[in-house]
Amino acid sequence: MPGLVVDLDGTVYRGESLIPGSDSALGRIRAAGHRVVFATNKSVARARSHADKLTALGVPAGPDDLVTVNDVLARHLLERLGPGRRVLVIGEAPLHEELAAAGLTTTSRWEQADSVAMGWDRNLDYAKFNAAFQAARRGAYVAATNPDATCPVEGGELPDCGAQIAALETALGRDVDIVVGKPAATMAHAAAGRLGLAPEQCWMVGDRLATDIRMANEAGLSAALVLSGSTTAAQAAEGPWRPDRVCADLAEFADWFLER
Ligand SMILES: [Mg+2]
Repeated sequence: MPGLVVDLDGTVYRGESLIPGSDSALGRIRAAGHRVVFATNKSVARARSHADKLTALGVPAGPDDLVTVNDVLARHLLERLGPGRRVLVIGEAPLHEELAAAGLTTTSRWEQADSVAMGWDRNLDYAKFNAAFQAARRGAYVAATNPDATCPVEGGELPDCGAQIAALETALGRDVDIVVGKPAATMAHAAAGRLGLAPEQCWMVGDRLATDIRMANEAGLSAALVLSGSTTAAQAAEGPWRPDRVCADLAEFADWFLER
């Protein structure tokens, strides 16, 4: 039975408002026996707060139903470096907490850093940025949460982790070593793994071609694009990323998915 990997903003809700019908759509899909996880590139919130927001909007969820970039980054670094290695962190409390929970030691001293972990940091300053640069220059493994240039917020958008990555790459004259969030396969495998399924047994449902649909195309998931977020039907037809299904919203997707 196929599982679902579902994006949040633009797919289940927009900002603080539920997209009408997405609560009952997910309820029907779950009631039919399909497992669902939610995959988010947002590094400045904890799995618990994503879950609480979903639950308050009528989509019951616990932290284990969320696959966040912080969790995926922490697991990736643990696998790559082994426990006890020192990580210099650019990011907010949820990223720090996830790294600590995974058994990694954080340091603010670039001379000691085996790795740099970078997430969206709304308190980023020159000293922190320079520490990341010096650590990377010394050979630390640089891993970032998500490539999004901006994050949509009420009334506009804010620079996100992708803008920070670009600044660091400019200073270094090279790319960071990995960005684990959507569209990376790292995120797809973490989400499918959480469902206990192979990527080919999963559907990705999301509103962005360059992250949600690209990840699905590259990692082997089936892909459904919903037009309830940041993409128009005309953009969906342009490619190069190809959804297997285009729906107005999650409710329309559920109608189709459950009648196949
Ligand atoms: Mg989205």
